[in-house]
Amino acid sequence: MRAPPVCTSPRDLVAALQGVDPARLTTARAALAARPIEYALGSGEADEVALYAGIKPLVRQVLSPAELPAARARFSQLGLSCGEATHRVALPSTGGVVLFVSRDPRRVQEAVRCEALPEHDLELGRLLGYPRCCVEAYLEVPPPRTNVQAFAAAAANTPGRFLPRLNTIDLAVFHYLSWVPCSFGCELSRAFADAVAHHLGKRHGQFLAHPAQPARASCPPGCRHERFVEAVDAALGAHRLLVFEDVQVSLSGRFDGEVLQVERAWPTARDRHPDARLEDAAGEASARVAALVGAGTRLRIEGGAVSVDGATVFSTADARLFPFGEVGPALTRNPT
Ligand SMILES: [Zn+2]
Ligand SMILES: [Zn+2]
Repeated sequence: MRAPPVCTSPRDLVAALQGVDPARLTTARAALAARPIEYALGSGEADEVALYAGIKPLVRQVLSPAELPAARARFSQLGLSCGEATHRVALPSTGGVVLFVSRDPRRVQEAVRCEALPEHDLELGRLLGYPRCCVEAYLEVPPPRTNVQAFAAAAANTPGRFLPRLNTIDLAVFHYLSWVPCSFGCELSRAFADAVAHHLGKRHGQFLAHPAQPARASCPPGCRHERFVEAVDAALGAHRLLVFEDVQVSLSGRFDGEVLQVERAWPTARDRHPDARLEDAAGEASARVAALVGAGTRLRIEGGAVSVDGATVFSTADARLFPFGEVGPALTRNPT
């Protein structure tokens, strides 16, 4: 018997998973293309919602120079203060402008000054209103601090339930938090996420329509904002198999701490914003993994090795299950 392949890229994974069931693969590809969630706002806009609602004091956005004027105009129109700083990490995707936005002009100035300092993480985290426990936990992750490393650290710190609203594992799917939580049960993160969800579902649309009378009225029941929150909660409340950062599969079924009895599997990118891009190889790899672990299989992930019904099918350095979905009785309690 051949040893299961060790995959180092989505392309590897596509090559390794040539034998998956064709009907399941067709279904998974169709799900990927469908992008059924009707996004009421961008995947990373929870921060802005929180700022408008007064539950977050400051927002930091990295923008290209081309995007800057429109963003400034939008925030000024809502009566908010803006300040710019140079982004010290030059990314090819951005021109390197950091925009800070707040109701409080002094906080904007402090943040602009702080952004230029070499060791600014703790202070900037405080100004942004991030929970200190989460900032400190993030700084404990050894550099270069990839997202995947930070997610793994948060999972290792999670004592009980993985709370769906703290799920930030695919950043192109709407997420309530703009930081990586110290654990997927962090109480401060939970309070924030619940407040954002409430505001988004009930008041955000009214705020944008009537900025002069902040949060006076509520949206009618069943409005598109409320439906969006429901759809997002369902997407974030599925178990998440991360294979690579860009190759993720969502699953329903019960997890008992070792094995997940799969009821349904779909590529996580299905639930992304309609405009979010996905490389072809990453999309195809996630469709193939979803097809492979489809209904009725017993899925187990250990040390990066993915096993289906007792046989290891492939492994990657980062493969890990984040159990945000239904769990067995041993895992349902949250120690306080
Ligand atoms: Zn925390
Ligand atoms: Zn609404």
